[in-house]
Amino acid sequence: MTPTLPGPVPRSLLSQLPAYVAGRRAAGAEVAALASNESHFAPLPAVVDAISQGAARVNRYPDPQGLELRAAIAKHVGAGTDEVAIGPGSSGVLQQLLTALCEPGDEVIHAWRSFEAYPILVRLAGAVAVGVPLAGERHDLAAMAAAVTDRTRLILLCTPNNPTGVALTTAEVDDLLARVPQHVLVAIDEAYVEYDDSGFDGLELLRRHPNVCLVRTFSKAHGLAGLRVGYAVARPEIAEAVRRTMLTFAVTDLAQSAALASLAAVDEMERRVREVRAERERMIARLRELGWETPDSQANFVWLRCSDERREHLMESFDHADVLVRGYAGDGIRITIADRVANDRALAVLAPVGALA
Ligand SMILES: *Cc1c(COP(=O)(O)O)cnc(C)c1O
Repeated sequence: MTPTLPGPVPRSLLSQLPAYVAGRRAAGAEVAALASNESHFAPLPAVVDAISQGAARVNRYPDPQGLELRAAIAKHVGAGTDEVAIGPGSSGVLQQLLTALCEPGDEVIHAWRSFEAYPILVRLAGAVAVGVPLAGERHDLAAMAAAVTDRTRLILLCTPNNPTGVALTTAEVDDLLARVPQHVLVAIDEAYVEYDDSGFDGLELLRRHPNVCLVRTFSKAHGLAGLRVGYAVARPEIAEAVRRTMLTFAVTDLAQSAALASLAAVDEMERRVREVRAERERMIARLRELGWETPDSQANFVWLRCSDERREHLMESFDHADVLVRGYAGDGIRITIADRVANDRALAVLAPVGALA
């Protein structure tokens, strides 16, 4: 990004940041979109209704406080409205959280490999991203606790972890919280919480520790990825800080209305989640039969660790089959669970290769 003409120059950081690699977007009905952990279900009729009705109001600004939605989220999770903040997706909420807490040069600890956006958001906030390697497919919480310095402001946990699908336990995060200083915020990214049936209880941790912040989203199980709504639940002082750092009006009225409609239809969301879980267990059983050592997943995706050579070979086969999945250099492949037909297409790509393993 060296400018050819004299003029304003962006921060040198921008040319050093890895670009966020989004899963490829599906073009055409024949493509199976298994790269971005979206919900494959069409939006609920009630959600579509809410959006259509909102269309007639787009000349107006949305409620910048998101009061009605925050109240509904608070009721849903069993917290106070003052303990809830919203933002444009949970990546937006994470950015707000980082802006609220980090001074330049402060350190943020996160697991790696984990969600792609962490090091990017941390560095954009002027903080230093400290990636702590996974132990196998799990967070290495002991190493994360040991990485705390007097510059550490925040520890980011991701459960279930994207892309490995493995969930943390309440007890091990409790242990971590006992070991880190109380001025260090432990943010728990629960983007896939609805799919998690491991018993992990972030809300219980929040009740017992003042330095916990839960970060959640409507993008995954609620199926609103295109509308951008996420939220944080934390003690009132932290929630307030996360509200203050949101770009005003960043969560549109359409997004707020759709999220409200989705919360009102939570039974239907849960029915869909049960379907995805059943498919997830079917996929994992089949993958193991094929010889893959895939870990138990608590999310809506499965994880295949493999060599770069194998990954490249497989990615080509997926491409030929019009099945979009997500490959990670040096680590492996993540496949989103969708409907049975799409999942079977993914398995069909893996079957002949698996047999050779
Ligand atoms: C998908 C995802 C998010 C954020 O998605 P938004 O659409 O910004 O809400 C956050 N964290 C993890 C781990 C994710 O996988």
